[in-house]
This record gives sequence, structure tokens and C-alpha cells, in this order.
Amino acid sequence: MPHRIKAQRGVKSRKAMRTSKKTVKAVKNVKPGTGRILHSKHAVHAVKKSKPAQNPVVKSEPEVVRRTIKKGVLQSVRGMRDILPHDFRYWRWFKDTARTIAEQYGYQEIDVPIVEDVSLFRRSIGDVTDVVQKEMYEFTDAGGDRIALRPEATAGIVRAYIEHGMLNLPQPLKLFTMGPMFRYDRPQSGRYRQFYQFNVEVLGSEASVIDAEVIVLAYTILKELGIETTVHINSLGSSESRIQYKKILQAYLKSRKNELCDDCQERFLKNILRVLDCKNEHCQQLIADAPELVDSLDDESRKHFVSVLEHLDEVDIPYVLNPRIVRGLDYYNRTAFEFFSADQENGRQSAFGGGGRYDSLVEQLGGRSTPACGFALGIDRVISAIREQKIEPPTQPAPAVYLAQIGDQARKRALQLFERLRKAGVPISGNLAKDGLRQQLELADKKGARFAVIVGQKELIDGTVLIRDMESGMQETVDFKKIEKELEKRLKI
Ligand code: AMP
Repeated sequence: MPHRIKAQRGVKSRKAMRTSKKTVKAVKNVKPGTGRILHSKHAVHAVKKSKPAQNPVVKSEPEVVRRTIKKGVLQSVRGMRDILPHDFRYWRWFKDTARTIAEQYGYQEIDVPIVEDVSLFRRSIGDVTDVVQKEMYEFTDAGGDRIALRPEATAGIVRAYIEHGMLNLPQPLKLFTMGPMFRYDRPQSGRYRQFYQFNVEVLGSEASVIDAEVIVLAYTILKELGIETTVHINSLGSSESRIQYKKILQAYLKSRKNELCDDCQERFLKNILRVLDCKNEHCQQLIADAPELVDSLDDESRKHFVSVLEHLDEVDIPYVLNPRIVRGLDYYNRTAFEFFSADQENGRQSAFGGGGRYDSLVEQLGGRSTPACGFALGIDRVISAIREQKIEPPTQPAPAVYLAQIGDQARKRALQLFERLRKAGVPISGNLAKDGLRQQLELADKKGARFAVIVGQKELIDGTVLIRDMESGMQETVDFKKIEKELEKRLKI
């Protein structure tokens, strides 16, 4: 019996789509001003003869304009930025590398929505964390629901894992995703309000080798991109050992509480672990000799931690035991780690990424108890390191063939030919908006094309094209119908 799949809201049914196709065809064929249906050739003729329409009146958008206009120029919202075509060689390199390596390690790609119910983040990241309290883009939608732009990806992936019963799939389930995250943070170098992460999550295993595997995976991706990193690693223990340690830390800092920065004074009661990774110099001095979390670990967590380190030793991953790595989100337990540039030892500069174990999050969000582990790499920061270190992404292969045309009639033929050659697997490029042959040949040269296919007035009449060898300048006339064959012969495709 065929499956019946219910269409999602906002997606047209097939019947509706068919109707809209018919409508498009009908609209195409209406002779302007008559409403009469014409067939294609006649329609083109009719359009040629018709009078140009009056320019439509564009209504201004006072709301939008008032919010974003600056000196008369519309700009992107503060903390958000465009990633332009010439930047894409870096972005594509990162994404291709991360995807390839994750798949080689057996991870599957998943995508979850950018928008989620606010309560998902409150319940997972924690109500008293900076991310939820100060940085979340939260609003009420037109239907009255409280929603948020995701500040991170783990919570959404765990929600999807529970919602789709993925715990019934073979475990551990190894997933990765990449995409934009949103935090209303103070924009500065390397910190944006819309930024991009590559996330990896392993659900359904408490084995220490999984902690090591995700660390190796992130390390390998960075290394493949030419970035040397050191892993800063710590163990946050169990929630019981953390409660114990928080009391020890409070007792240690109590007499000097007033010297802490304003944020840390607030954290003192609500989330004292965050004092440990405060960037303020004076706070750092105050906690320089504070008791360390590793000394309060429960036996199981200690064993787990030692085993993770042994695995890392086995594969020669450079790491530093760093008691200041506590991670900003509430759901972490046991292993916590961050990646820093290998030549910076103190771990107080911006991290490329970080992660850890979150063994109780699935249960906390309503699923069955499922241990899990993961990390997020900040793509923006990795790319800016690549640029700063002048690491060059591999160059894309040059198109082998450049299609040039002379005149309007030839342009029509060229548009059709472009598609024919693309379909035949010929690596092709061209600029159909250009006219002059010399200019087009210069472009072909700049792009490193081996051949130019030239369609001119004479060739149109003869049913031929010219194939020009860009290196020798030799040109040959070939039959329009045989271009694919001739190019295949020359390119040995
Ligand atoms: P977190 O989940 O906060 O540990 O973030 C993981 C990684 O995402 C960080 O190490 C950064 O590389 C990156 N990241 C976090 N916040 C931002 C931001 N506001 N702008 C750019 N990158 C960020």
C-alpha cells in the first residue's frame, strides 16, 4: 500500500502545484492587453511589440528603514554580517573538510530548526547562565508562542533525538550539523551576534573512548585546515561532586567576594563555577590558588577522566590539564574541553571551540536516561585564524572551457550550448552578458581555461563553432552538433 505522507504546513499539495504550473504557462501565453492565449513563438513576438509597463510604485517601509538606515544606507543589523562570494573559498573549505572527516568517522548529518521553543533552552542550558539570561534572542511570534533563535545546537539535536525516537536506532548515534547560532553578545573581533558552528554529538554511550573520539575528530579537522591546537581539558565530575566543590570554592572566595568583578559577584551564589573562567584579570588573580575541581572528583568520574587522557596519549593529541575549563552551560558533567591555538598556553584567549559530556540532558528533556558527548567548533573563529595565519585553501580546478559569443543571435545559441555542455560534464564557464571577443578571451585566460568555444555570426549561419586552444591560439571550426565529442577528445574526459 502506498504510504500517505501528510504535507507540511506551507508546502503545496501536488494538485495545487500542478494548478500553479498550468497558471504559469497560461500567464506566459497571454498576449499583452488582450487576455488571449498565444503559443510560445507568437507570444515572444507579441511581447516584443507591446508597450513597456508603467513602473510600479514601490511603497516605503518606514519601520524597517528607521531601524537600520545609517547615513542613508541600509546596513546589516549590528553583530550580524554578510559572507561574500570571495570569502566562500574559506567557508567551503571548512565545511567540506569537516563534513568529509565526520563522515569518515561514521557521523551522520542532521539539521534542526533555528527557531525552538524558549523552554527548550531554559531547561537545557540553564536559567541562570549568561547565554539564557543575557544573550538569547527571545520573542513572541504572531501566534503568541514564546520562541528563541538557537544560541547553540545541542539542545535542538537532543529534542529531535527524543521526538523521533532515535534511541531505538543502533546506539551510539553519531551526528553532526552546521549552521548559524545567535547570541545577543557585545560584538567585537571574533564575536558576532550571528555566528556559525560545526557541531558533533554522540548519543547513547558513556565509554571514555567516545570522549576521546570527539576530541580527535575536532583536532583532526583543525589540523587538516592547517591549524595547530592544544586541547585544554578538565573534568566536572558528577553533579554531587560539583555541589561539593562549589561549597569549597565559595568558602575559599567568601572573604574576598567584594573584590570580584560585578558579574562574578552575581555568579558567586548562582553559578560560582563561572568565576573560574572569568576573563577579568583581578578575578583570575583571586582564584589563582583556589582548590581545584579534580581534587573533589568522585571515583567513577576520576577513573573516566584518566581513561580519556590515556586514549589521548595513545593518539598523541597534545593536551593541557586546565582547571579553569568549566564551560558556560549547565548541562555538562565529567569531561569538558576547549581548543586553543597551540602557541598560546594560558587558555584565556578566544577558543576555537569546546565541548564535553552531558549525560543527564536527554533525561532532563523528557527522554530515557542516555549518556552523551559532543563539541562545537566556531567556524568564524577557525576561518579568521586561517586568514591570519595566511593559510591558503586549495584552489578550485580552473574551468577547462570558456564559452564566448559575439552578438545577440549568438547569445541565444550560447545559452542553449552552455546547458548542453554542462550536461555533458564539460567543466565550463562563461559570461553571457559580455559582447566583445577580446574581452571574453581575456576573461577565459584569467580563469585558466584550456579552450574557448566561440559562437559568432558566421558560425551561426554555418551551424558551426570555433574551438580555440588558449595556449597556442590555434582555432578550429567544428560542427555545432559535434561539439561535445570534439571537446571530450581534446579534454580526454
Ligand atoms: P560555546 O558553545 O559557547 O562554547 O561556543 C563554542 C564555540 O563557538 C566557541 O569556542 C567559539 O569559537 C564559537 N562562538 C561562541 N560564541 C561566539 C560568538 N558570539 N561569535 C563567534 N563565535 C562564537
